[in-house]
Amino acid sequence: MKDAAERAAWLRDELARHNRLYYVHERPEISDSEYDLLFRELVEIESDHPELQTLDSPTLRVGSAPSESFAQHRHIVPMLSLDNAFSTEELRAFDTRIHRTLGTEEPIAYSCEHKLDGLSLSLTYLDGVLATAATRGDGTTGEVVTANARTVGGVPLRLAEGAPAGSRIEVRGEVLMTKRAFAEVNASRLARGEEAFVNPRNAASGGMRQLDSRLTAERRLRFYAYGIGDVTGMSELAPTLTERLAWLRDLGFPTSPGAKRVVGIEGAAKFAEGVLAMRDSLPYGIDGVVVKVDGIALQAELGSTARGPRWAIALKFPAEQAFTRLLGVSDQVGRTGVVTPVAELDPVFVGGVTVSRATLHNYSEVARKGLRIGDTVIVQRAGDVIPEVLGPVLEKRPAGAQAPVPPAECPDCGAVLIVSEGLVSLRCPNTHGCPSQIESKIVHFASRTAMDIEGLGEKQVARFAELGWLSDVAGIYGLASRRAELVGLERMGELSVERLLSAIEASKQPPLGRFIFALGIPLVGSRTAADLARSLGSVNRLLATTEAELAEIEGIGQTTAAQIVEWLSEPGNRALVSALLEAGVEPRGQEPLGDHFAGKTVVFTGKLEHMTREDAEALVASLGGKASGSVSKGTSLVVAGPGAGSKLSKAESLGIPVVSEEEFLASLPDGRG
Ligand code: AMP
Ligand code: ZN
Repeated sequence: MKDAAERAAWLRDELARHNRLYYVHERPEISDSEYDLLFRELVEIESDHPELQTLDSPTLRVGSAPSESFAQHRHIVPMLSLDNAFSTEELRAFDTRIHRTLGTEEPIAYSCEHKLDGLSLSLTYLDGVLATAATRGDGTTGEVVTANARTVGGVPLRLAEGAPAGSRIEVRGEVLMTKRAFAEVNASRLARGEEAFVNPRNAASGGMRQLDSRLTAERRLRFYAYGIGDVTGMSELAPTLTERLAWLRDLGFPTSPGAKRVVGIEGAAKFAEGVLAMRDSLPYGIDGVVVKVDGIALQAELGSTARGPRWAIALKFPAEQAFTRLLGVSDQVGRTGVVTPVAELDPVFVGGVTVSRATLHNYSEVARKGLRIGDTVIVQRAGDVIPEVLGPVLEKRPAGAQAPVPPAECPDCGAVLIVSEGLVSLRCPNTHGCPSQIESKIVHFASRTAMDIEGLGEKQVARFAELGWLSDVAGIYGLASRRAELVGLERMGELSVERLLSAIEASKQPPLGRFIFALGIPLVGSRTAADLARSLGSVNRLLATTEAELAEIEGIGQTTAAQIVEWLSEPGNRALVSALLEAGVEPRGQEPLGDHFAGKTVVFTGKLEHMTREDAEALVASLGGKASGSVSKGTSLVVAGPGAGSKLSKAESLGIPVVSEEEFLASLPDGRG
């Protein structure tokens, strides 16, 4: 029995130490499975000797049986909110106020931290052992969620350095779900047929309010400490926030990572700028930075208002999520006839832009998200990613709200749609008669990576189509006969007509690959088009090709081969090609423009700034080389832009030459790039 007690105590200490190594220092010394072995041993001892289970036993981290309800907890020091700033000017105004109140000209030292996007939690330790965890609630009274808090990664069950008998310390911080845990937890929820969480914050706050703490444990939440509340019976604390945060780390708390002490408000502004730039690469969501006066005595002098401390401010970043109303769902017909539902939203400012529409991808997605017209929905626009409707806020659903109904007929031409299994796709079969399809085919044909006809964008095409001047792709080459009418159009003028018509004329001798790409054959992107051009060499060969011949071409799979042959077998498509040739389009045959890259394979990685990836690859192809998506021993050159990752390191390890985009362009033969 004594042995068991000793072993249990040793295991508790050891597990707590490994927890700190993992959460605070992010430097684990043992593997997860070794940790599990120690853990299971402790579980066994405790189940044989229940009296040995202590309040700081790591076995409590898996959660315990449900409670009936949450008890109330009165905060000794109120948990306040933070004042907000939305611009650098407002941040400077905060600094000015502080100088005025303190009556000093000296630059102020600030502790700058991430504003973690979760929920705040207050942890009270009695004699060094976690006794109570409470939510913020209304700031004065919160709810006791101790059993749940024990399951949160990074919450120490006992202070690492121990604490004097009779001491009490309250540590405050944020509970959140990392982006990774969010993705993984959602994947397993979907696999079990459960609904996915809309965002990490909801998942975290919902998780902390579970009556069954085993459910909290499943959410794999994390805690980061950012401050100290009420303290009694501890030795004197350090005079700055920065030092106190370091002390919290010694006690076993992970603290808001990325925190930095600066002197003077410009340093804080710069900190914020840096954090904003790397926001997407952080392991968790943040909604800004918090700037706090570092000196505790100064904090006391500044005091608080009812809302929040005068010594701290949150500089908010543009929200990446916002609530708005789903006004309706419209159906958009794409170039290949695929009908895509699009959310029509009450315009909302999110991620730095106003969003009023967002693609819903397809109707099975709409059903999965459970959207109804009139719902309040959460819209997300993170970084440069296209806006996305995450899901409805069910509590705000108006009575009688209806789910959007997938159309049976093309919203544009009225043709009966072809419905694939499970509503994943709806397609209008009226390829050559559906105005939307025709217009987007024309836009695609004229686009930069295809025939590159400048001045023939979406708006212009829609306008000409409406006037009846453009009813199919080949019609582009008939526009020259309407010179006078074109000049007469509003906002056109002599000069732009001249430019447009000469761009059209200039497009008549395209490289074969671009021409094939411009035709808009399903599954044929510019790389495949270039492969086809190289192997087939002429339009006539393309028109006569067979599935067997295509399957021989490197880079062309069976599905693509079948699609190409199907496309070619359709009389309307063949008529289009003939009409183009008749109009004077003469694709330049087997066309490497040069042999600069003959026999070479080039890989592009990272962000390109002067051209699109497709353009770059087409360029390599036009100079006799091959563009590939992955680095291997056969790679001749890697062109790396900002954000290049594993491909770059692989190239370096294989000793393959790496150049920047600028170097790549500069190395091309004259007149290219
Ligand atoms: P708000 O609720 O927007 O007024 O902001 C106050 C909340 O920000 C606090 O209750 C905390 O939950 C949260 N917060 C996140 N990160 C920090 C941080 N580093 N320091 C202080 N509060 C933070
Ligand atoms: Zn249609």
